Amino acid sequence: MDKVSILGVNVASLTMDEAVEKINKMLSEDKSHTIYTPNSEIIMVASRDEEFKKALNQADLLTPDGIGVVKAAKILGRPIPGRVSGYDLIMRMLPELDRQGKSVFILGAKPGIAEQAAAKIKEQFNNVLITGTHDGYFDDDEEMISLINQGSPDFLMVCLGAPRQEKWIDKYKDRLNAKVIIGAGGSVDVIAGNVKRAPDFYIKHNLEWLYRVASQPKRIGRAMELPKFGFTVIGYRLKHGKKK
Ligand code: UDP
Repeated sequence: MDKVSILGVNVASLTMDEAVEKINKMLSEDKSHTIYTPNSEIIMVASRDEEFKKALNQADLLTPDGIGVVKAAKILGRPIPGRVSGYDLIMRMLPELDRQGKSVFILGAKPGIAEQAAAKIKEQFNNVLITGTHDGYFDDDEEMISLINQGSPDFLMVCLGAPRQEKWIDKYKDRLNAKVIIGAGGSVDVIAGNVKRAPDFYIKHNLEWLYRVASQPKRIGRAMELPKFGFTVIGYRLKHGKKK
């Protein structure tokens, strides 16, 4: 699989269809796989934290979640097909999981949200088996691992916000009995109907970040990472030249 290094984070260069095909293959294999969907903010965290960067790069698949990552790849001379956001990827995977009669565990978000998301999934995808749900505010990791492993889910969604979810998955991935473990951020809130995804207009015009700041003003500090990320990528490009 073709990968592009964005400030040292090896993001996959693939289309949404290719990502879905890849995950279907993971589901058919007899081992665990990890997937993270870094955006520019996460890549900035990784660029300052070697250990976190290493954890990200150990994943089986890193998809470009945000438009900042797609633009960065272009600036670095290695254009990629486009965004493969965590939420879109999950929405594309649900019909696949349904068709294959696979099972899902949802971990994360405030109490009650994972259950709401599970109910929404069941409404639409009859054949998906929900092996369990739990909110993202727990202290006992051991208990959580046992709870997840009781049902051996095919598809485990870990939605603890970044970078906590990636660190958690990386720490326990060898002990979790799941075929695919995906760090899925706020996706569970959107599936539950608790948070609205940006309207198509914003997504089409690469302004999803603006919608998210406007609807959740406490995200402003995080959004400020985007211009910082842009300058860092341009600085990197000037220093290292364009990739061949
Ligand atoms: N969250 C959680 N446990 C935590 C911190 C956050 O379950 O310790 C949840 C939070 O309730 C939200 C989700 O993680 O549902 C995503 O959080 P955020 O929007 O901050 O992250 P992002 O989607 O940007 O990664």
